Amino acid sequence: MFFGGTGDLAYRKLYPSLFNLYKKGNLRTHFAVLGTSRQTMTDDKFRAAIKKSLADSGNRADSKEASDFISHFYYQAHDVTDTAHYSVLKDAAEKLDKKYKLQGNRIFYLSMAPQFFGTIAQDLKTQGLMSTNKDAFNRLVIEKPFGRDYDSAKQLNDALSKSFEEEQIFRIDHYLGKEMIQNIEALRFGNTLVESLWNNRYIDNIQVTLSEKLGVEERASYYDNSGALRDMVQNHIMQIVSLLAMEQPVAFTDTDIRAEKVKALRSLRVYNVADAATNFVRGQYGAIDNQPDYRHEDNVPHDSTTETFVAGKLLFDNYRWSGTPFYVRTGKMLADKFTRVDVVFKKPLVDIFAFPQSQSTPLAANVLTIFVEPHAGFSLQLNAKTADAGFQTEPIKLDYMVDAAKSAETPEPYERLLHDVLKGDGTNFSSWPEVSYAWKFVDQIRRVWDLQEPQFPNYTPHSMGPAAAEELIQRDHREWIYRLNK
Ligand code: NAD
Repeated sequence: MFFGGTGDLAYRKLYPSLFNLYKKGNLRTHFAVLGTSRQTMTDDKFRAAIKKSLADSGNRADSKEASDFISHFYYQAHDVTDTAHYSVLKDAAEKLDKKYKLQGNRIFYLSMAPQFFGTIAQDLKTQGLMSTNKDAFNRLVIEKPFGRDYDSAKQLNDALSKSFEEEQIFRIDHYLGKEMIQNIEALRFGNTLVESLWNNRYIDNIQVTLSEKLGVEERASYYDNSGALRDMVQNHIMQIVSLLAMEQPVAFTDTDIRAEKVKALRSLRVYNVADAATNFVRGQYGAIDNQPDYRHEDNVPHDSTTETFVAGKLLFDNYRWSGTPFYVRTGKMLADKFTRVDVVFKKPLVDIFAFPQSQSTPLAANVLTIFVEPHAGFSLQLNAKTADAGFQTEPIKLDYMVDAAKSAETPEPYERLLHDVLKGDGTNFSSWPEVSYAWKFVDQIRRVWDLQEPQFPNYTPHSMGPAAAEELIQRDHREWIYRLNK
């Protein structure tokens, strides 16, 4: 059942992803989709919209396969704030359950504004929409954002948990559906070479960059209330960092992986006021050519102090990571659109090639780069001898890129995540303890920022953010591995 079934996310991502699962045989006969929103419309009109959504996403929407798939879609108008009216959804669900022999299994996908999540979860239970068949599942899928600070997130979680158990709640973080984010676990725990060096003895620092080329576009009214810290750091960046920092799980199961991620986040140092002010910097983009500054984008107040850029240093107080910082940065209107992780190893303690007559440049650090998007792959930078008569060293790269044909077959994040929900696998979703530790960390930064008026705008579009982001890392005698004009 899709709440917000006529919304942008549903048409653009969710229905095409479901169709991909259908084409691959992960959904076949025993399923029905009930779309609901405030709008009144017939099943036929809804199906026509689904057909368009499939066509817009590059599918052959007039094929027999597409029309068979679309025949499983139904629509029921409903206002989620009208408790008494949930009975119509209940009746529709029961009819479909019988028709498609669903044995009471139900998935409720809340693809709508978060202010409705609590009410819907409560009414699903009190109005009898959750299946009572003890062998059937009831699963709740919710979109971001999950609160705007720890207190509101806790309030939301308390409301959801009156109706659903933690293992029935699937909090979407679409970064966890990305191929190379999932590959972090394979890379770390499938390779002795990598995992044996994955600690503070060999790793100098880790850098996570989520860079966006566009500005706020049509999301301005939402974004201005959120900012980069809440919109990107609290969820996506903290999830990536916890996968990089966690210990090896006992087994490759959702429960074991989540337990390790939570343990890692528990050892993340929550900053006091002084450290939060030193270790996190923010930015807002200025104007260039025809591009207005952030404060002159549509639907943004002219005195907005919302940050469109964040960079920060995270420290884990545990045996594996003590002394090895994780630097993170994300922002809008930056040089390019990409996501990458750079793992910077310590240099050899002694550079024996640096003898007095040597022509060699000093040894470079080994760097393992995980390219998440737009291209997926790894690159390992090593030092090697130059292929000539003398003896000089130079950095060389061992590269692995997922080829274009394989990339085209790689499922979209929403396809993977919907498949996981169907299987009941919570590995790639954020659990409540993870969400709550992430908020407690981020709230402390926010609290400090809210005390001071920022000097905005402070970075040029198509750069890599404000000078303060460079100073943050240079202060530690380090540099960002991805730099402009390197
Ligand atoms: P949208 O505004 O396009 O759709 C909202 C849907 O909710 C519509 O179907 C609308 O009819 C319905 N709705 C609103 N009020 C209602 C009510 N009282 N009763 C019943 N239905 C009601 O929103 P969207 O962009 O599809 O986003 C949905 C959710 O997904 C939000 O939580 C958003 O933050 C999240 N999200 C969206 C995107 C995206 O790319 N669009 C990306 C990430 C997360």
